[in-house]
Amino acid sequence: MFNLIIFGAPGSGKGTQSEKLIAQYGLTHISTGEVLRAEIAAGTELGKIADSYISKGQLIPDDLMVDILASEVDRLRPQSTGFIFDGFPRTIPQAEALKKMLEERGEEVHSVIGLEVADEELIERLIKRGAMSGRADDNVETINNRLKVYHSTTSPLRDYYQKEGKYQAIEGTGHVDEIFSKISGAIDKHPAAPKK
Ligand code: AMP
Repeated sequence: MFNLIIFGAPGSGKGTQSEKLIAQYGLTHISTGEVLRAEIAAGTELGKIADSYISKGQLIPDDLMVDILASEVDRLRPQSTGFIFDGFPRTIPQAEALKKMLEERGEEVHSVIGLEVADEELIERLIKRGAMSGRADDNVETINNRLKVYHSTTSPLRDYYQKEGKYQAIEGTGHVDEIFSKISGAIDKHPAAPKK
């Protein structure tokens, strides 16, 4: 398996680039945001809990998030040659839980692709996305809180994965295809990289 984390602030292009990664490498995409939005749409208990955090731009508690991720990994693992983790981990405890969870399954994170985009551009993109997709958490107030949470709680993961020698910074502005070619260039250098 080849397991990749696509890392970056809200609006940095993780979802867009994940689609291209799936097409090129056949990896299995796990977006924790999408999993939670599906629960909300289905009106489940979990969805109700998730909505109470997402609508305020806050993170879902780590314990709950780790359980959700573990069950997705176990559900999808039999048919997978590797994962793209999108939107997870978002905290140091989540990164530690992911490491442990993968180790218990004889697996590891091979690479962390960090999409780096300036805040002003992120805000512009998220406001545009909110107008087009109607995503409830893409409104100005929630966006500001999500960026604050990103800088205080999620961005320390950059250092965490840098220390593990896994972090690869990618300039996340410019044309989507140009960004993708930088990402695939970084992945292809890895000895365990999947075939195209
Ligand atoms: P996303 O689609 O990745 O931007 O996620 C949308 C929202 O879902 C986030 O703003 C959080 O409220 C919640 N969420 C998604 N992934 C996580 C995570 N790993 N930990 C905590 N909350 C999450």
